[in-house]
Amino acid sequence: MIKLGIVIPCYNEEQVLSETIARLRALLAQLCESNKINADSAVYLVDDGSQDNTWKLIQASAAEDSRIRGIKLSRNRGHQSALIAGLETAEGDALISIDADLQDDLGVIEKMVDLHIAGADIVYGVRESRKTDGFFKRATAEFYYRILGRMGVQIVFNHADYRLMSRRAIKALMAYSEVNLFLRGIVPQLGYTTAVVAYDRGERFAGESKYSLRKMIGLAVNGITSFSVVPLRLIAGLGLAISLFSLFMIVWVVLGKILLHSVMPGWASSVVPIYLLGGIQLLSVGVIGEYVGKIYLETKRRPRYFIEEEI
Ligand code: UDP
Ligand code: MG
Repeated sequence: MIKLGIVIPCYNEEQVLSETIARLRALLAQLCESNKINADSAVYLVDDGSQDNTWKLIQASAAEDSRIRGIKLSRNRGHQSALIAGLETAEGDALISIDADLQDDLGVIEKMVDLHIAGADIVYGVRESRKTDGFFKRATAEFYYRILGRMGVQIVFNHADYRLMSRRAIKALMAYSEVNLFLRGIVPQLGYTTAVVAYDRGERFAGESKYSLRKMIGLAVNGITSFSVVPLRLIAGLGLAISLFSLFMIVWVVLGKILLHSVMPGWASSVVPIYLLGGIQLLSVGVIGEYVGKIYLETKRRPRYFIEEEI
């Protein structure tokens, strides 16, 4: 029997929270009855600075049931920070992180616990199908996971943040102190015994996605720049290729002048490369700037979150 903690980041989730809490309470009771988890197991709801009634709902549930706990962050810090706040605060021999919106199948939690009891330190929930995600989200996500893989970032394909981690895996995770978190990139680096459970991702139970396009792009850029220097190498490679090409051009032009006495009086041939190279340079500086910015933010060692209230 293990003590289980379930960590749920919640941002403006008043529409789904009651249902989520009800289902999790039923699940805890059922797992307790089958003697897989003990009675101290709890659900930790992290309110990520919601503007709606999310915190009130959490408070009410916590008052009603001691297995429901609440953690209120001082303001909206984003999904990854809310998750780490929950993982750092929650108690338990194993912690499961899951979204509030019931898109991830609660049915596989029992399997995760079984696999953990059988020895796995990390159990990844992997989406078998993404039928319920829109075409745009599905296509961009899959393309992005491929790119990440190409850049040498180790990730579990089609796994988001639905996973179980043992206490020692959590401890290892806490040793990563970066402020710009990309948990699904860090966790595979921890090692330990891992296992996978597959599930079908459902529709959001209610409400709208709390991941705006902006937040999604932010997470995506972070995933690459936190784990890979391949973009910097690509830039260096591009620079080298262009330099070699220009050297060749110089030789060619000089030879043309000496041997053939003819040089093309081209306007295009001089202006087009200026635009092209200008564009490439700006892009390159931008990419490097992204990394420099990251260094800037990380060296400040700013705290990832503040807890305003805990119940
Ligand atoms: N979330 C959060 N802070 C944010 C945005 C989202 O804690 O700033 C939570 C949200 O409440 C949900 C989870 O992160 O539990 C995933 O968000 P969502 O379901 O909206 O993302 P999607 O499934 O559309 O990618
Ligand atoms: Mg969702």
